[in-house]
Amino acid sequence: MMPNEIFEESKKYIMNTYKRLPLFIVKGRGNRVYDAEGKEYLDFVSGLAVNNLGHCNPRVTVAFQKQAQRLVHTSNLFYTEPQVRLAKLLVENTFPDKVFFCNSGAEANEAAIKLVRKYSKEKGNGRYEIITAFNSFHGRTLATLTATAQEKFHKGFDPLVPGFSYVPYNDIEAVEKGVTDKTAAIMVEPIQGEGGVNIPDKDYLRRLREICDSHGILLVLDEVQTGIGRTGRLFAYQYSGIEPDIMTLAKGLGGGLPIGAMLAKDYVAEAFTPGSHASTFGGTPLVCSAAIEVLKIITEDENILENCRRIGSYLLNELNDLRLKYSHLIKDVRGKGLLTGMELNINGEGIVLECLKRGVIINCTMERVLRFLPPLDVSQVDIDALVDTLGDVFDGMKV
Ligand SMILES: *Cc1c(COP(=O)(O)O)cnc(C)c1O
Repeated sequence: MMPNEIFEESKKYIMNTYKRLPLFIVKGRGNRVYDAEGKEYLDFVSGLAVNNLGHCNPRVTVAFQKQAQRLVHTSNLFYTEPQVRLAKLLVENTFPDKVFFCNSGAEANEAAIKLVRKYSKEKGNGRYEIITAFNSFHGRTLATLTATAQEKFHKGFDPLVPGFSYVPYNDIEAVEKGVTDKTAAIMVEPIQGEGGVNIPDKDYLRRLREICDSHGILLVLDEVQTGIGRTGRLFAYQYSGIEPDIMTLAKGLGGGLPIGAMLAKDYVAEAFTPGSHASTFGGTPLVCSAAIEVLKIITEDENILENCRRIGSYLLNELNDLRLKYSHLIKDVRGKGLLTGMELNINGEGIVLECLKRGVIINCTMERVLRFLPPLDVSQVDIDALVDTLGDVFDGMKV
């Protein structure tokens, strides 16, 4: 199909839920994608923090190609090896005892919300409420939408799910005030991604942990975006010195294949028994074989996380130089690892389009925050190309 045909037929046949960029992608390799005419683009979106090891990573591709020829799907009425191996890898590399598999970030958070409620019911403590943070993003199902404390996402969908309350992010006092005898859990992202790459104070998670411990409530970390190496550690909570009771994953976990996971300590996980929760597709051999390879690559090759941290600070430095040079346009830059944001004084949509014209794909969230999410093994040369392109676009802007 030709690009124009694609654009028109997409409009005709696909529900109008996405504002897409005018780019028809036919192929991807590493941190590059190609359109129908063979034009190459540098990809600083990575499928929204999904392709952390690049497009069509050869090891991941071979892993699921092999699995595709053996067994793709069985349902969870039966045992399969990739699912057990993946759960074991997750447990061995991080804090939890048990894993539940699903297919997306929203589903992982939905599972976490259900587990919090079931756990509290079993304990008979009358708690059910979950505190989340303003500008959070937890998904688009009704419960995760309610957990997402951003009015613009709620509009038109009320009545929402009962049992949620909201506090400002990175505000410990507000959390202390917000906890009641109905509070069952606090659920936050270690760094808010969709909310504008908001990085909390160093001791934020540790202090949330203390509040949870002193009130006997659960700490749920949504690492759907920050997980799988994005911030320079396998999981962002590992910077904090504390452990959550529940953690959710998706995005980068399957190397591009759809998988979500909800991980928990045994004392919480025990609240789920057969029938409590389920997913027909959750943890198919196919997606699990990809996720196993993703985790093996990141955990066995230290260079990847090392590169993410080193190139991440290089990028931050370069962006800071841009901020000094274009201080009328740029309000702030912030990032950890390769989860990086540049807050503008203006709407960023035009800049995204200008970069696209120059063969560089970036994202804009919260209208004014340019977000850069290259694969974790991105090179310094490609970072320089991004920074040069941004400078070029800023130069061309009338103010
Ligand atoms: C993207 C995202 C989600 C939702 O994931 P989906 O796979 O789109 O359902 C949830 N939480 C966070 C932190 C995210 O970034």
